[in-house]
Amino acid sequence: MIAVLKPSATKEQIDSLTAWLEERGLAVHVSKGETYTVLGLIGDTSKIDTELLGSLEMIDSVKRISEPFKNANRKFHPDDSVIEVGNLKIGGHDFQIIAGPCSVESHDQILSIAKSVHASGASILRGGAFKPRTSPYDFQGMRADGIDLLLEAKKQTGMPIVTEIMNANHLPMFEQVDIIQVGARNMQNFELLKELGMIRKPILLKRGLANTLQELLMSAEYIMAGGNRNIILCERGIRTFETFTRNTLDLSAIPLLRELTHLPVAVDPSHATGTARLVLPMAMAAAAAGAHGVMIEVHNDPAKALCDGAQSLTPEQFAEVSEKVRRIREVITS
Ligand code: PEP
Ligand code: MN
Repeated sequence: MIAVLKPSATKEQIDSLTAWLEERGLAVHVSKGETYTVLGLIGDTSKIDTELLGSLEMIDSVKRISEPFKNANRKFHPDDSVIEVGNLKIGGHDFQIIAGPCSVESHDQILSIAKSVHASGASILRGGAFKPRTSPYDFQGMRADGIDLLLEAKKQTGMPIVTEIMNANHLPMFEQVDIIQVGARNMQNFELLKELGMIRKPILLKRGLANTLQELLMSAEYIMAGGNRNIILCERGIRTFETFTRNTLDLSAIPLLRELTHLPVAVDPSHATGTARLVLPMAMAAAAAGAHGVMIEVHNDPAKALCDGAQSLTPEQFAEVSEKVRRIREVITS
């Protein structure tokens, strides 16, 4: 970290700031220019509040050189992390297609979708049991019964399952769930993230509606700080001024995250666009940009879906997406 001091900074001020920084375990390298004095702070600066430092009267500007995320940082872990999910792997050279309905609605619905997406290339089944709906009057999910139905679908198809948690008190219900999803709305629910750090199950961590990549990585850091290193990041679109799409898919997040972190990066083109016909091009683009997986909403009867019907693909449409994504993967890995 570098702190540039104002020309008016006095020797007493510099000495007292240096002493304060040294008390925090940092080595301080002072370099005096003709007008400005620059302090180079060496050591673990993750606990230094840059805003607070920048607000001191004697400080002109503060710049972080190293990122505040350590466990998630590729600099300290150059190889891709590969997360094991049952017999499957995601990350590195391993790519997975996650598919299923927005919400588990009934036994027949989840079983029929699970079987059809499995037959056309999905390797992991998704389905919301606890739904974070904007309106309290909308369908809230089948809760524990929804998880039971996902487990039944897992038994019949052999596919691992991923489903969203909204409350750490619900963790006992997720005992047999293969991947726990943290939805966009809970990306910064730090108490939940801390609890998920205490377990060792893979976590699918979705990017918040209006969060930066650094904030996403700091949320991953919360989980990793507790010891759980099994995290899959998920870009799912961010809020912008554009209204034709539900969100704006940040495709550049894929190569950027791959530079910044060793964690696998998945993409959800369904929530990113909100529109079924945009899912195919965005899923192909995500695979082409280097994603380690895609997560796609599929419904046996999208018009009657209890949640997110407009962005849900029919099983036939999903089969086309799955095949085209497979072909893109072939091209970029050959
Ligand atoms: C979901 O995947 O079911 C979901 C609610 O997505 P998000 O948290 O990205 O909005
Ligand atoms: Mn949905």
